[in-house]
Amino acid sequence: MPLTPESIEIRRPNKSLAGNVVAIQWSDGSQTTHSSFNLRMRCPCAKCRETHNPDPNVIRGPKGVPPMVEVKTFDWVGNYAVNFIFSDSHNAGIYTYKFLHELDEKANAI
Ligand SMILES: [Zn+2]
Repeated sequence: MPLTPESIEIRRPNKSLAGNVVAIQWSDGSQTTHSSFNLRMRCPCAKCRETHNPDPNVIRGPKGVPPMVEVKTFDWVGNYAVNFIFSDSHNAGIYTYKFLHELDEKANAI
């Protein structure tokens, strides 16, 4: 069975200088939490991928993303991905379950 989200919740942390976070409950019982900024910076859409900074010493991501960017809402895409709608009006990114789970592994590896 591939890993799938049981639920996705948009949360506002009590203490945070940044935007909100997206908490995902996975089918294996694990939970991952992603900051909206992190999700936005790693937007997998073609346009954002084009503008990713190739310098490995800086955060890769599209230019001009506001640090306070938030996830406004999301839509399920089929049974394999999630489409996040961001406060900077960007909504082109299709985040597959696999991609989301790997994002968390990368975040934990730092
Ligand atoms: Zn994008």
